[in-house]
Amino acid sequence: MDRVSPADAFELLAAEPRMDILQSLVAARREGRTPLAFSTLRHDTAIDDSGRFNYHLGKLVGTFVEKSDDGYDLSYAGRAIVAAVIAGTYTDAEQKAPEPLDDDCVLCGAAVTASYDDGDLVVRCDEGHDLFVTGFPPGAAGTMDMATLLEVAALRTYQRIEFAMTGRCPECFSPLETTPTTADFGGGDMHVFEAQCAACGEGFTASAGTYLVLAPEVVAFYRDHGVDVHHERPWAVSVALDGRGVDTDGHGEATVVSTDPYRLRFDLSEGDDTLRVTLDGRGRVVEMQRPS
Ligand SMILES: [Zn+2]
Ligand SMILES: [Zn+2]
Repeated sequence: MDRVSPADAFELLAAEPRMDILQSLVAARREGRTPLAFSTLRHDTAIDDSGRFNYHLGKLVGTFVEKSDDGYDLSYAGRAIVAAVIAGTYTDAEQKAPEPLDDDCVLCGAAVTASYDDGDLVVRCDEGHDLFVTGFPPGAAGTMDMATLLEVAALRTYQRIEFAMTGRCPECFSPLETTPTTADFGGGDMHVFEAQCAACGEGFTASAGTYLVLAPEVVAFYRDHGVDVHHERPWAVSVALDGRGVDTDGHGEATVVSTDPYRLRFDLSEGDDTLRVTLDGRGRVVEMQRPS
């Protein structure tokens, strides 16, 4: 397959018959009928003029459609664009009434509310602290109640963080740069990692605590004390885990022990038990000490 520029790829989809062809292939995939013979695809697409059908199909083959000896099917790019359309990435009609959550704000203790409007999911406290802000495709959000939406969005956030740890963009798989820094969310600086893709522009910032709770050893430490932090709701990750560098509630603190290379050390404690964990500049665990 020749490489196609992003502009050419968008151009390819600009003609109505091409969307009809893709839709016929989607329907056939749902019914387990792919690949489709030329005559079947033409019949399903209901384009009477064979020259016209041929022309538009020819434009799609090699990009969104692949052709084999058995017939025609969606290519990887074709499946990806269809999934994005179904998730409603390109629609913006969905809005949900704000819903109060059971959680208190990890920064100030105030009540917390979730809202969704025009692709933006926001968990915010009554004092105005934005605890969780993420984009989510409206078509998919429209099929979920708020609790499900929050659960799915949280899971996706952790997946994105795991991609960032491997140095790859979760959207386009190009190299992703991660910069450790601090950000003031109100009430003091918090250690955060800023991830940015140079290719597609995807970027996100998450607290060091959300990186920390992905480490199996940290999950095991808290599990020993009856606390489940695995895939903990990102807006409810405790203050100590958020690495604010202050021992606010006796559970631990975070310290930058080296800037080159970057090393962020957490000293976690539960009762008499302690765990020392050090993260590198991408939020990966590089050192762990748990006195037995
Ligand atoms: Zn607050
Ligand atoms: Zn990207």
